[in-house]
Amino acid sequence: MLNLHNLKCPVCSKSATFYNSRLYCNTCCFEYFHNVASASVAIIEHNDCILLLKRAKEPMVGKLHLPGGFISANESAEAALIREVNEELGLSVNSISYLFSEPNKYQYSGITYSIVDLFFKIFVDDIEKLTINNESSAYLWHNKYSVIKDDIAFISVANALNKLGYLK
Ligand SMILES: [Zn+2]
Repeated sequence: MLNLHNLKCPVCSKSATFYNSRLYCNTCCFEYFHNVASASVAIIEHNDCILLLKRAKEPMVGKLHLPGGFISANESAEAALIREVNEELGLSVNSISYLFSEPNKYQYSGITYSIVDLFFKIFVDDIEKLTINNESSAYLWHNKYSVIKDDIAFISVANALNKLGYLK
């Protein structure tokens, strides 16, 4: 785990403190804000089923997730989702509508990132052409009214599915 208590200022190399997402140097007053990152997440439904992906990579390998990913610099949330759906499922997004957001924590390389996940309901073209990439080990069309919370990788997704009435 990264030790956030013995940090050095990247400017003057004296000790710096990290508190409330802010790195601050008392010597030279350098400040760095480790702000919340954003991700776009897709709810894709077909009849009474919702599309879930089994994660092939850490964090939370083997657990279920929804298509989506982090929003890049200079990219809109919608553009990020269209890009991610194309990368992860090989599909084109036909329509997109914003639902709501949920906070999340994402552990990677010993650092806990604070994320806000933006959930969108989307419709895609040619659903039968769905092919997953190496980020997922499988996809499943799961009955949308009986998703089990413990199978879900992230609390934000569990909370979103619960909000939609999809958790068992
Ligand atoms: Zn400094």
